[in-house]
Amino acid sequence: MTPPIRILPPELQSQIAAGEVLERPASAVKELVENSLDAGATSIDVEIDRGGQERILVQDNGQGIAEQDLPLALTRHATSKIVSLDDLQRISSFGFRGEALASIASVSRTLITTIVPGADQGIQAEAVHGKLAEIRPAAIARGTRIEVRDLFANVPVRLKFLKTTATEAKRCQEAMAHMALAHLDVSFSLTHNGREIFRFLAGESLEHRLQRIWPPHLVQDLVPIQRERDGMRITGLVGTPGQAQGRGDRIIMYVNDRPVKDKLLLRALRQGYKGTLLSKEYPQAVLFLRLPTREVDVNVHPAKTEVRFLDERAIFSLIQGAVRNGLDACLAQADLQPLA
Ligand code: ADP
Ligand code: MG
Repeated sequence: MTPPIRILPPELQSQIAAGEVLERPASAVKELVENSLDAGATSIDVEIDRGGQERILVQDNGQGIAEQDLPLALTRHATSKIVSLDDLQRISSFGFRGEALASIASVSRTLITTIVPGADQGIQAEAVHGKLAEIRPAAIARGTRIEVRDLFANVPVRLKFLKTTATEAKRCQEAMAHMALAHLDVSFSLTHNGREIFRFLAGESLEHRLQRIWPPHLVQDLVPIQRERDGMRITGLVGTPGQAQGRGDRIIMYVNDRPVKDKLLLRALRQGYKGTLLSKEYPQAVLFLRLPTREVDVNVHPAKTEVRFLDERAIFSLIQGAVRNGLDACLAQADLQPLA
């Protein structure tokens, strides 16, 4: 006999949903930093302890959360960023699902301290495994400070799948660096176990920031690419074929400044190198694709790293052409000025 259909208890529902948004500490770091960016922050400081599992602290100087909104910020499907289905076609914020904070709070002890401009006093609220305690006054000069402790402590299966502290810390570092590359006007810092991992100042160039996450000599030789067509624009830096490597871990792609994983973009990039890469070789690349928001669907997966394009062919040809063109120009220049 088949067991009856039952609605899962709310606590289990929220843990299952949280699992889609939060795979590991780095997912929480990404969501929190995205929220800071959406809040207009120009300075974002992150501290993590034990790979982010013990503690993640994100402090920003953004617009803060009003007292009446604080309980909603921790409620699933509550967001300040969209109001209608139509808005999904023109999303310019990183968030829109209203899930991240609720998910994080359901699998940790989360302490939020925040102040809105003009308020006499900040406020603070703690949520333990999704249950929000009373909101109380608190001291904070500006912006929002979110501290997440003991992530996944109540979800043993998730804990079991985490890697070593060093690996989880590396993922947090990567997630943050990738956002930092797309926001050169914002300062970012990251500290792990009290040790500063990086500090990016506002106004630095892309190359400057890249040099702190990739080998500097490699960054020096990157080739700039740029092409624009029908309201779509691709810009970025790509490695020469000679710098290709056996792993694709130095390919960072953005769609409207959102870091994405996308097979179409990857194929287009590789196609730009046609005839110069071996089948198992990957180039380095940092690519920024900008296109009208109606041309792209970002509501594909809760983690928001996947997208769907309306006109795949146009995008493929734009990127492939830009890469090919940049590499050709670079090779031509090298011919004119042969190395001694
Ligand atoms: P989403 O980003 O999809 O709206 P989240 O769960 O990430 O959903 O955040 C819920 C809401 O909390 C946001 O819509 C925003 O209004 C508020 N919020 C979260 N983090 C911050 C922050 N650092 N500064 C200001 N507001 C924030
Ligand atoms: Mg968000």
